Amino acid sequence: MPETLLAARNITKRFGGLAAVHDVTVELWRDRIHAVIGPNGAGKSTLTNLLSGDIAPTTGTVTLAGRDVTGWNPERISRAGLGRSYQKTNIFLPFTVWENIRLAAQSRTPNAARWLKLASSVGEANERAERALELAGLQQRRHQVAAATSHGEQRQLEIAMTLATDPQVLLLDEPLAGMGTAEAERMVELLLRLKKDHAMMLVEHDMDAVFTLADHLTVMVNGQVIASGTPAQVRADPQVQSAYLGE
Ligand code: ADP
Ligand code: MG
Repeated sequence: MPETLLAARNITKRFGGLAAVHDVTVELWRDRIHAVIGPNGAGKSTLTNLLSGDIAPTTGTVTLAGRDVTGWNPERISRAGLGRSYQKTNIFLPFTVWENIRLAAQSRTPNAARWLKLASSVGEANERAERALELAGLQQRRHQVAAATSHGEQRQLEIAMTLATDPQVLLLDEPLAGMGTAEAERMVELLLRLKKDHAMMLVEHDMDAVFTLADHLTVMVNGQVIASGTPAQVRADPQVQSAYLGE
């Protein structure tokens, strides 16, 4: 069995009368991609926010590498090994690709770094940033101002910034959104590279990419999980076909 790095058990998030996420249980495993699909408003982004600590669940628990992190703030969860990208980009456009990644790497360092620790933390942040730049395939763009890079490269940069915090768990919300075919193919290759050593949750609308990448697939509709299993199992589920895939 693969190692469980993140588990959300029976989590619910209510906004007033609406249960945006209702009694959802998901697990993320090392070296596996768990894709979450569903129509707009299904609760996918809310689920991502619950796992990253951006919002706290109304009920239910989240564990990260065996630790109960329910109710922790996003910075603390990030330091415990979770990295996420946002649908809306976090890039500083006037800065270079390298500066963006280097700043993200520094954010991993605790604020209260003492003098003696500071020198080694700078070296470590440089190394993390260098690895992230390479892993994301952005070496050629290192000195380019982010604003001058393509849409696809900006999405790669966003993932590099996430990698610079050295996460074990990656939550990616629609990394292929707005991409052309060539850009999407490059992103799929990147996500396949990232599978190794990471546990990944991938929220994505591009079904070709989902069925190429996913080891496990969960379908959400109206805040609830209607199916979860291997892509083949989910595809064969009659409820999924009528509710979502439209086959
Ligand atoms: P998805 O990402 O699957 O499109 P979301 O998680 O963004 O869905 O939204 C799920 C539901 O929760 C939607 O009905 C949305 O309007 C609602 N919702 C999301 N965030 C909030 C919020 N902060 N306050 C109130 N309702 C919200
Ligand atoms: Mg969303």
